[in-house]
Amino acid sequence: MKIASTSFETSAADLDGCPSWDLPEFAVIGRSNVGKSSLLNMLTNRRDLAKVSATPGATRLINFFKINQRWALVDLPGYGFSKTGQAQRRQFQEAVTAYLTGRPNLRRVLVLIDSRLTPQKIDLEFCQWLADTGVPFVLVFTKTDKLSAKKVDANVDGFLNAFAEVFDGVPQVFRSSAKSGGGRGEILGFIGSMVAG
Ligand code: GDP
Repeated sequence: MKIASTSFETSAADLDGCPSWDLPEFAVIGRSNVGKSSLLNMLTNRRDLAKVSATPGATRLINFFKINQRWALVDLPGYGFSKTGQAQRRQFQEAVTAYLTGRPNLRRVLVLIDSRLTPQKIDLEFCQWLADTGVPFVLVFTKTDKLSAKKVDANVDGFLNAFAEVFDGVPQVFRSSAKSGGGRGEILGFIGSMVAG
């Protein structure tokens, strides 16, 4: 899929603030510093679409980007950050939960996982919650240029095995590198097939 146009639509603090369109949405989420902003920029070929965050956890709103006038990328706040207070964290958790469970045009959640790490409890718990709740998701293992393909495979397998212990079924997996553009074609191809179908 070619990206012919990208435009920032709006930031929402809650479900009511989300756009009233019915464009198919693909939401991106992961721990702070996992490479979410870099992936959004890489996918859209923009250097600053989602400002690469200087402060972990600084992104607190749900950001909507309209792509090719046909679908939308949704930038969700990162989870697992510690720099914000409890009350603020709860507010954003509520907003993200409301979005994930209450948005009919949400087609897929792209859960970003740092490919350098062995399975992290917080990522597994989040994926288990998505699966239990029936929110469709895929996994994107980020920063794959930082280690050998063999190590990436080992960490991907480790995550899938750990996930299999708590849930039946294997999520679809992508491997990405914001540095090399690796995975861009696969991810956009996947989105394109869902938007067309
Ligand atoms: P976010 O907090 O999840 O939005 O993460 P960022 O996109 O801000 O990335 C966090 C850090 O990881 C930054 O220093 C990025 O340059 C770096 N980074 C992100 N993705 C990649 C990648 O695919 N390859 C490499 N080598 N570095 C990356």
